[in-house]
Amino acid sequence: MNKKYDVIIVGCGVAGCFAALHLPDTYEILMITKSSLEESDSFLAQGGICVLKDENDYDSFFEDTMRAGHYENRRESVDMMIRSSRDVINELLAYGVSFMQKDGELLYTREAAHSTNRILYHDDITGKEITEKLLAQVQQKKNVSLLCHTEMVDILCKDNTCDGVVLRTEDGGITAVFADNVLWACGGIGGIYENSTNFPHLTGDALSLSLKHGIRLQNINYIQIHPTTLYSTRKERRFLISESVRGEGAVLLDKNGNRFVNELLPRDLLTQEIWKQMEKDGTDFVWLSMQTIKEFDVRERFPNIYKKCLEEGFDITKDWIPVVPAQHYFMGGVYVDLQSKTSMEHLYASGETCCNGVHGANRLASNSLLESLVFAKNAALDMASKQTDPTRFSSLLPLTEEALENYYGFCFSDYENLIKLHDTNKEILRKEIQKENDRKEKEK
Ligand SMILES: Cc1cc2nc3c(=O)[nH]c(=O)nc-3n(C[C@H](O)[C@H](O)[C@H](O)COP(=O)(O)OP(=O)(O)OC[C@H]3O[C@@H](n4cnc5c(N)ncnc54)[C@H](O)[C@@H]3O)c2cc1C
Repeated sequence: MNKKYDVIIVGCGVAGCFAALHLPDTYEILMITKSSLEESDSFLAQGGICVLKDENDYDSFFEDTMRAGHYENRRESVDMMIRSSRDVINELLAYGVSFMQKDGELLYTREAAHSTNRILYHDDITGKEITEKLLAQVQQKKNVSLLCHTEMVDILCKDNTCDGVVLRTEDGGITAVFADNVLWACGGIGGIYENSTNFPHLTGDALSLSLKHGIRLQNINYIQIHPTTLYSTRKERRFLISESVRGEGAVLLDKNGNRFVNELLPRDLLTQEIWKQMEKDGTDFVWLSMQTIKEFDVRERFPNIYKKCLEEGFDITKDWIPVVPAQHYFMGGVYVDLQSKTSMEHLYASGETCCNGVHGANRLASNSLLESLVFAKNAALDMASKQTDPTRFSSLLPLTEEALENYYGFCFSDYENLIKLHDTNKEILRKEIQKENDRKEKEK
């Protein structure tokens, strides 16, 4: 493996891909993913991606995002996301992403807590459509090397400066790779929960490493629970029933088939109401009925949900389906500024891994794909705008195992200990989230 790159991007979801596409072609870039290319949460996004429909929508989009976030959002980040949204969507269209249209005009749908239709979508597989198209573009780039089943287990850093990453490669070997800049685009933390809609390998590794190296974190107890995932007794990733189903008119029912809540409440409030109802009814789920949707055929509008529910024995055209809240999204993360810079020099973070303050205490539906793209692009542009110091790594090159071990202060052949440390970090993360939660609860 080449041991020095211009940029290393950890993660191949929308954030990682969009950053790669905005870095200069003259850069040598390494992108890694812990799993296969298709196994990122970006592939799972169903509902859609928000966009500023027109200038008249600005105040309402801003207010909807702030209200959903309990006004704990960073206003300048929300502003940047909204104002950059149309350009980002135009870029996606230029990359061949197909959003639903009628008579040549883009169609907009609505999800809970949005006061108007401003979400672009592709059936109920918007994330797959966007990520596949972005990955195809990245794969065409001669300056980008993509490595699957390659895990970041640590970073190389000294004096609050990030110099690269330590990787566990597909064959199980450990290697160090240096870079002028590193971007963490490692997704969320669902993998540390028993019930989550996320891929289980997304275990908040960037956060564990931040705790280890003293990198600033923010709001790590702000975890979004999605109100409606398909109930199952099996221990596996929870299947999401998108908010747009309720946005289009589906209703929630108690055990007796009565409506008990406004289905368009923000996610956190709706989740509370569902939990309350489950407790009152003594059930493990509530029912969701799509038979109230009359304007179109739900099989055509939600083909993926239709197929999955059918596999589980529910026909959404005539059956109610059992739904339950599950961990879904992480509003907190590695603290970053508007350029996606972390508190460590030469280390950036984008997408669900970071906290740029857009979502405040609770994310508005369909804002995360947009936020990931806008701020990943900012990270790339910021890196590209900086002069690099050609002598920065000269004392280490050519890289020998001995030089690496001296630099890192760790014996690379001692794999077992390194991995044990990596696993302990995840345990520490779980405890830190709990601690932060308890602290905020006490403050209330
Ligand atoms: C079921 C579901 C539905 C959703 N629907 C929507 C929606 O409709 N609209 C919307 O806006 N958002 C939606 N979201 C949220 C959105 O999909 C994610 O927030 C967004 O895609 C995150 O992108 P990302 O690039 O930050 O991370 P991801 O796409 O999750 O990618 C993370 C990448 O990091 C890699 N990685 C992680 N740790 C390591 C490591 N240690 N070493 C190497 N690689 C690593 C992973 O393998 C992966 O490649 C949904 C999420 C889920 C789970």
